[in-house]
Amino acid sequence: MRVSDRSAALVLCSGGQDSTTCLRWAANRWQEVYSVAFDYGQRHRVELDAAHTVASMVGVVEHRVIPVEALKLLAGNSLTGDTAVGNVLEADNGLPNTFVPGRNLMFFTLAAAWAYQLKVSHLVTGVCQTDYSGYPDCRQQTVQAMTMALRTGMDYGFTIHTPLMHLTKAQSVQLAQEEQALELLAYSHTCYNGSVPPCGTCPACKLRERGFREAGIADPLLQRLASEGTV
Ligand SMILES: [Zn+2]
Repeated sequence: MRVSDRSAALVLCSGGQDSTTCLRWAANRWQEVYSVAFDYGQRHRVELDAAHTVASMVGVVEHRVIPVEALKLLAGNSLTGDTAVGNVLEADNGLPNTFVPGRNLMFFTLAAAWAYQLKVSHLVTGVCQTDYSGYPDCRQQTVQAMTMALRTGMDYGFTIHTPLMHLTKAQSVQLAQEEQALELLAYSHTCYNGSVPPCGTCPACKLRERGFREAGIADPLLQRLASEGTV
């Protein structure tokens, strides 16, 4: 199986807290970093702007936004539709109504397709199975299976790095501090409702708030907005 000897990585960067931390983590380890975000008609379009901003701050070689129109047609849940986002579990499967079936699987495949062209074998993603809402596509088992599928299907020696996989949200914040990612996190976006300043009540906002509080670190996003007089 072919594998690249380039010191380069491609980060799946949504502009959120976790993938922004991973962007810095990758920039600290590889000479060249690329980043990719996906436009699937998400209601929080502000996160695409956040992804672009943090990618520029890190100095990626290239940041690309890949349109995934198909998800908008297929998903129809609260991240793409008009329903308000709450901490709601679907009755039929017990998954949060923010779960978009197949989303991460498509993202991995599309990212790998670009990485293949770039001759980059390292993919980095912020998925985490510890503190998350039970998304099945964020589990270690899914990432392992995906790695095998990509290696086999493209005959290329991909490695998917998941530095946050087994960390709590507080530990992720501590890692962000160690990796000097707090400056970037001031420009990351988390709120499911796409609010700036963050709404503070959606599950994503609550999880972020708890993570920073338990880590004993002030959220640099709120600090930045306060200094700008936004909050
Ligand atoms: Zn929110």
